[in-house]
Amino acid sequence: MPRLPIYLDNNATTQVDPRVLEAMLPYFTEVFGNAASIGHSFGINARRAVEQSRAKIAKCLNATGPIEIVFTSGATESDNLAIKGVAEMLAHKGNHIVTSKTEHKAVLDSCKHLEKTGFEVTYLDVNEDGLIDIDLLENTLTDKTILVTIMAGNNEIGVLQDLSGIGALCRSRGILFHSDATQAIGKVPFDVRALNVDLASFTAHKIYGPKGAGGLYVRHGAGIKLIAQMDGGGHENGHRSGTLNVPGIVGLAKCLEICLEDQELELAKLTSLRLRLLNGLKANIAGVHVNGHENLRLPGHLSISIEGVNGEVLMMQMPEIAVSSVSACSSGSGATSHVISALGHDEDRALSTLRFGIGRFNTQDEIDYVISRITDLVLKMRNQPASSTTSSKK
Ligand SMILES: *Cc1c(COP(=O)(O)O)cnc(C)c1O
Repeated sequence: MPRLPIYLDNNATTQVDPRVLEAMLPYFTEVFGNAASIGHSFGINARRAVEQSRAKIAKCLNATGPIEIVFTSGATESDNLAIKGVAEMLAHKGNHIVTSKTEHKAVLDSCKHLEKTGFEVTYLDVNEDGLIDIDLLENTLTDKTILVTIMAGNNEIGVLQDLSGIGALCRSRGILFHSDATQAIGKVPFDVRALNVDLASFTAHKIYGPKGAGGLYVRHGAGIKLIAQMDGGGHENGHRSGTLNVPGIVGLAKCLEICLEDQELELAKLTSLRLRLLNGLKANIAGVHVNGHENLRLPGHLSISIEGVNGEVLMMQMPEIAVSSVSACSSGSGATSHVISALGHDEDRALSTLRFGIGRFNTQDEIDYVISRITDLVLKMRNQPASSTTSSKK
């Protein structure tokens, strides 16, 4: 019997790895200087830690150098900076941006914001597997297109887009390519040069690092002079003003390094736990459907719909298991998931969705517990009229 509660929501956030915390701790107390105060040793030591972290992160992404990494407060800010920053920089060249219907709200809402100021945005459809058709993308490009922004791994359904195909297309057309790579960086190989990515967003708290620390990769030599979205002291080469979060930055570099050291092993472990979960549920329960492509996905990510079972009702009956019923958190407005509906599924399917995020600290015992618990609950719910299931209070 595993220890309860069980955390299976690792696509929302992750536990900080103790090795990451250990690396961060000295930067709260001993090395607490302001990295911009380089007139004394306190600031110089903080600055040194920041620059070492920047170099490590650049190496992890196969960037050409540390200058390509801009520190931010997380992926939401990185997406805003990339999309609005490029749009404002290239407004004289064109006003057309291409993205997809299944992006994170940080991307979709940045695009919506730009539409109010005269930009035109194409929101590409995805197929039933959640994937972009590259021919479709190519057909939308015009000589007014200044930016393509397509995510790497989808947070709700886990599918991995063909970034290298998209990157090659954009590079050949001379159009900047940004990717919200928050879910992918650290979990699957991600080489900014091989993928022809010009800008990429990432954040520490999805990969066993602290909340509130993220970054944006900005390709050097591509003439990208992002218009800052935060004005102030001109930190980060004028890209992003604000006192640097030194412990957070140290944690970001450390968590990424650990991810890359252990990547092959972790990828294999998470894939096998995911398949164990899926196969276990499928063997016991009829009508289990995977949302998004079965194999082109993040290793620990599983989104399923269980026919006739309301995801939120199921979740409420197993408070000892932390998963997510994407419909609730996608907008906060009570609407069903924009991602599940973009796959062409109906509302019933969206309402019967559960998202499992398996992570570094999960065990096989936990997966087996979850399989048997969900099996029992679903069989019980199906044997009772829905109303008595939802209202039963013991
Ligand atoms: C979590 C997430 C974000 C937001 O990251 P924060 O650091 O929490 O702002 C953006 N995009 C994707 C794909 C995410 O999964």
